Amino acid sequence: MKSRKPLLGGVELGGTKCVCLIGTGPGDIREQISIATGDDANATLNRIEGVFQDWSIAYGPIAALGVASFGPVELNRTSARYGFITSTAKPGWRNTDVARRLAKLFPIPVGFDTDVNGAALAEGRWGAAKHLADFAYVTVGTGVGVGLVVDGRPAYGFSHSELGHIRIVRKAGDSWRGACEFHGDCVEGLASGVAIAARAGMPASRIPEDSPVWDLVAHALAQLLHTIVLATAPRRILIGGGVAEGRPELLQCVRRQLVESLNGYLKLDELTGGVDSYAVPPGLGPLAGPLGALALAADTI
Ligand code: ZN
Repeated sequence: MKSRKPLLGGVELGGTKCVCLIGTGPGDIREQISIATGDDANATLNRIEGVFQDWSIAYGPIAALGVASFGPVELNRTSARYGFITSTAKPGWRNTDVARRLAKLFPIPVGFDTDVNGAALAEGRWGAAKHLADFAYVTVGTGVGVGLVVDGRPAYGFSHSELGHIRIVRKAGDSWRGACEFHGDCVEGLASGVAIAARAGMPASRIPEDSPVWDLVAHALAQLLHTIVLATAPRRILIGGGVAEGRPELLQCVRRQLVESLNGYLKLDELTGGVDSYAVPPGLGPLAGPLGALALAADTI
């Protein structure tokens, strides 16, 4: 039987592919397709618009649309450039209007945020952070991103938070310069898929479990978690993304190094039930990203 919940459309706009989906939630995705994110932003957005026009005929009216985008993006609603992808290095996408353009497609609300904030909200609505108002979602993939949810919504200031680029205490004896073009050895510069491949000379997916590289990656991620724990005291931290997925040994190493780094300052066991239930994989797995777009749509109605 079809759900009576509002029918939602979502676009996860990624650096290499755009995932479009229609449904009401994780148990009811009516259709999902991927479109290559070409260097011609206009042509890519045209194709996305075509998908939703076809779907609105096939499945009926869509109540709201959500767009979870790679960044940086403009989230200030008073800005003339609200809903734009701004200073991206991706060719053809700098200063591209996404949200307001898609809002012209149908007379429905459009939710817009970063891909990682979207995934965090999906985990809060349907996944491993359900019923938690304060949590963090860390994605370790091509880059490192953090959706830091405080009191039920992602933390915003003049922009979205960029915790993947914080500077950290380096592991003793490790002086590799790092791969971030802005900061060198920030967390993203040490623990992203790009950084890991640059350091190891092979893609992260091919590096054996017992390689010493993983201890260094875990160290950088544990330092990131140390900062997140102290910044807003989230009740749980989810660690997902292509590099982290399916590597329980990496997560275990991050947990151990987090406890070492905190050094008893906070009693995680007493406060949160222990590090094993505190730093956990996402509940939605690889669907966290696409469902993030649906969560952003759901939040508008
Ligand atoms: Zn950086």
